[in-house]
Amino acid sequence: MNRLTFVLLGFVALQAARGQDWDPKQTEKWHPVPAIVTPGEGTHAPSDAIVLFDGSDLSEWERVRGGAARWAVENGVVTVAAGGGDIRTQRSFGNVQLHIEWRTPPNIEGEGQDRGNSGVYFQELYEVQILDSFQNVTYSNGQAGSIYKQHIPLVNASRGPGEWQSYDIIYEAPVFADDGDVVRPAIVTVLHNGVLIINRKELTGPTAYIGHIDYTPHGRRPLMLQEHGNPVSYRNIWIREL
Ligand code: MG
Repeated sequence: MNRLTFVLLGFVALQAARGQDWDPKQTEKWHPVPAIVTPGEGTHAPSDAIVLFDGSDLSEWERVRGGAARWAVENGVVTVAAGGGDIRTQRSFGNVQLHIEWRTPPNIEGEGQDRGNSGVYFQELYEVQILDSFQNVTYSNGQAGSIYKQHIPLVNASRGPGEWQSYDIIYEAPVFADDGDVVRPAIVTVLHNGVLIINRKELTGPTAYIGHIDYTPHGRRPLMLQEHGNPVSYRNIWIREL
């Protein structure tokens, strides 16, 4: 008997002694069968995604303060219009996976929070910061990829001004009890240009510029993009409901 056979026989004897069936089929699960999704390639979204902006128009969006979204669409890219106001999706969402590509202006103007500032707001309340954080110093919990004023990115994976960057974000919506208590806070995971920078961080409440805001119970709500006066551009925005 060689050594391997000896070890295997010993293992089987041990399983038998424990009353367990030595059958690999015991631990196979055949259901459910995951649905087939055709992955995206280049700027194409996966087959089960909702495309929020494919470069053609802002038909999925509206101005938060009312009316049509007025940001400029040109050459497959939408750019924040100063004074155009925040825009949000017409659809509402809960738990999602979001892919969004963004670009801060090639010509550097301003510094700190006034340089390439925009933002992705989940459910209109919780901001993942967009900022030109390439050789641009600001407070760490306000730099690109931060959960604004709540969580500092693990690393700074920023590309330079004028370069396209991406966020892939897993957003888990907060869960509220009937009496309004927070059963589970919102949880966010962010990959910036493919690099994990926020790993399942719990949010303390809605994004606040000053101080702290407590959670207020809510259901599904739109995704919002921030107008901060800087001409940040976007392309290839898609979302998957989880
Ligand atoms: Mg912002």
